[in-house]
Amino acid sequence: MSSIRFSDFERIVFFTGAGMSAESGIPTYRGRGGIWAEYKYEDYACQRAFDRDPEKVWDFHDKRRAVVRACEPNPGHDIVAEVQKKKPGTIIVTQNIDGMHQRAGATDVAELHGSLWRVRCDAEEIVREDTSVPMNPRKCSCGRYWRPDIVWFEDQLDHRVVRRAREALEQCDLLVSIGTSAVVYPAADLPRIAVQHGAETVEINLEDTPLSPLYKHRLRGKASEVLAELNR
Ligand code: NAD
Repeated sequence: MSSIRFSDFERIVFFTGAGMSAESGIPTYRGRGGIWAEYKYEDYACQRAFDRDPEKVWDFHDKRRAVVRACEPNPGHDIVAEVQKKKPGTIIVTQNIDGMHQRAGATDVAELHGSLWRVRCDAEEIVREDTSVPMNPRKCSCGRYWRPDIVWFEDQLDHRVVRRAREALEQCDLLVSIGTSAVVYPAADLPRIAVQHGAETVEINLEDTPLSPLYKHRLRGKASEVLAELNR
């Protein structure tokens, strides 16, 4: 049993990846049933693919929307949201695009890779929420296609979101990394900031990752079960 308890900390950063939503039934990135085993990102998840064939890219994203819509936040998402309510200094920095933290009631969520539930029109510089499944209409009133507001392969991260995440990591007293394989950069590098600033660090995962040595506490198990233990 870990000596860490959320009740001993005030400014917690939950740094989450696809493993956070695995118990909701959303496929992870690399695991069995992972999305990219079936679809090549070059055809479905990069600006070049969108420029070439926006309808095909939207068909793919509609499928992802439908999968996520059919899933529910899991008890791990509930615990993270509950801790955030109790500790207002708590921030969630997520690599996920599924919106599950917010559906569980979380409010302060820095979405490093954007959201499946936002679209943007680059021509008019408009970003808006859109939860329709399938997404409709696919075109903005200006005539251009809405683009999923997701950081696709080969895209840059939004520097405002990164700054928010960095500040949170500089100031936190506890970093809890959950369900990330820690190989997607630059997101994978962010936890180092918390270590450099002296925070207590916990990694929750089913298995070791390349960044495991960074963490003082390496807890192996399902996210929801380990989180329940830390929330006792
Ligand atoms: P990843 O798929 O590369 O790694 C998932 C990690 O979660 C693995 O290390 C695995 O061991 C661990 N894991 C699996 N089930 C778990 C569980 N129940 N409890 C604890 N750990 C568990 O995911 P990543 O590191 O987030 O990188 C994938 C990229 O793809 C991210 O950029 C993310 O944006 C994107 N993605 C998002 C979603 C989503 O929004 N739900 C899903 C797939 C991929």
